[in-house]
Amino acid sequence: MLPEIKGLNEECGIFGVWGHVDAAQLTYYGLHSLQHRGQEGTGIVVSDGKQLKGVKGEGLVAEIFTTEVMKELTGTSAIGHVRYATAGGGGYENVQPLLFHSQTSSLALAHNGNLVNVNSLKHQLEAQGSIFQTSSDTEVLAHLMKRSGYSDSKDRAKNALSMLKGAYAYLIMTETELMVALDPHGLRPLSLGCLGDAYVVASETCAFDVVGAEYIRDIRPGELLIINDQGIVSEQFAVSSTKAICTMEYIYFSRPDSNIQGINVHTARKNLGKRMAVEAPFEADVVTGVPDSSISAAIGYAEATGIPYEMGLIKNRYVGRTFIQPSQSLREQGVKMKLSPVRGVVEGKRVVMVDDSIVRGTTSRRIVKMLKEAGATEVHVVITSPPIKNPCFYGIDTSTKEELIAYDKSIEEMRVLIGADTLTFISVEGMIEAIGRKDGEGTSGYCLGCFTGNYPTEIYPDTLQYYYQK
Ligand code: SF4
Repeated sequence: MLPEIKGLNEECGIFGVWGHVDAAQLTYYGLHSLQHRGQEGTGIVVSDGKQLKGVKGEGLVAEIFTTEVMKELTGTSAIGHVRYATAGGGGYENVQPLLFHSQTSSLALAHNGNLVNVNSLKHQLEAQGSIFQTSSDTEVLAHLMKRSGYSDSKDRAKNALSMLKGAYAYLIMTETELMVALDPHGLRPLSLGCLGDAYVVASETCAFDVVGAEYIRDIRPGELLIINDQGIVSEQFAVSSTKAICTMEYIYFSRPDSNIQGINVHTARKNLGKRMAVEAPFEADVVTGVPDSSISAAIGYAEATGIPYEMGLIKNRYVGRTFIQPSQSLREQGVKMKLSPVRGVVEGKRVVMVDDSIVRGTTSRRIVKMLKEAGATEVHVVITSPPIKNPCFYGIDTSTKEELIAYDKSIEEMRVLIGADTLTFISVEGMIEAIGRKDGEGTSGYCLGCFTGNYPTEIYPDTLQYYYQK
């Protein structure tokens, strides 16, 4: 069953090391820097060349991997995962990496993304005798590999990966090799680096900086990398059809110090803000960004308009993320605890409030209200993504269609609901131009599914049924 969807949430983060004496420790630091991608569960599996050993738990990286736990994780290779529950929901059994033992070898899997044909694959596999340990979509790859009939692990992986549809960045580790795979559209970011003679792989390049690794390149769509003690080999398991990196990685999910396919995330966000200075120029006294993900864009807007950037909103860093709260009322309380307006900055001022997206509208309404209660005379809301009108099937929880405020409301209706004086969303063209990747023409190269309803992959009926019949 697919998960209950709450709001705009990150998916997961993965990190892997091959050939380093401190593999587990490096993975700990790498996962720590990817913690923004998932806070519900985390795990590390290490290989000492003879066996795989794993530790996982529900909680943050620093909570699960105590000094005592880390002492047990000895080996020269490791993969790790931070999880936000997407397909399959939460629970300890779904925390990754998943670890499988058979009489001949072991296999560990870490996955970022969401498969859109998982139900049909599970039906087929169950009909052939498979029994699943988890309700997560990740596990199907292990069953497909085991049943593929090929003797060589690379061929097993290639054969199994070619059956998957949707978004997937996979780390697959056995005692003797680490395989790295990215779906044929390259929906999720995944990069390769090195640290001396060791190879490092991460969802975001910020993890390389933390461990002192050097960035080599991004994994190509449809590519399978095989890393072992003999070196590294690259093969294509699928032809890259249409490249379609998730646009929201640039706008919201990734850390500003990460680079995705050659574009620094902070710079992309700043350019989105600059673009909004052209698409939504207002006469105002201050520009403020909703912390943290919209600060770069607010700085860009301020730079381009000449209106001073100010810290009009302060984030309380010691409050858990609002979307973790289970009910609507608790979630709203969470927003209040998390953000505070700075009265001295906004009182008596016309404020441009820059934010990255509007999902349900609840958070925007609360922030506008806070700014007005703190004395702002006008609040102009500037959003650096186009309206999110459609659900995401690729591992981002954007809500069911009916829960999305933009699904059936005009911009004017949304403005009234959130209580702003004006509300402007960036255009799709403006967004693409501002992010500025050079490898696509126009909108090609990006996934725009949640904005336009045009998804890069086929969406299977059982997946659609879940999202539209809730
Ligand atoms: S549908 Fe939206 S959130 Fe999902 S992968 Fe595409 S751009 Fe990203």
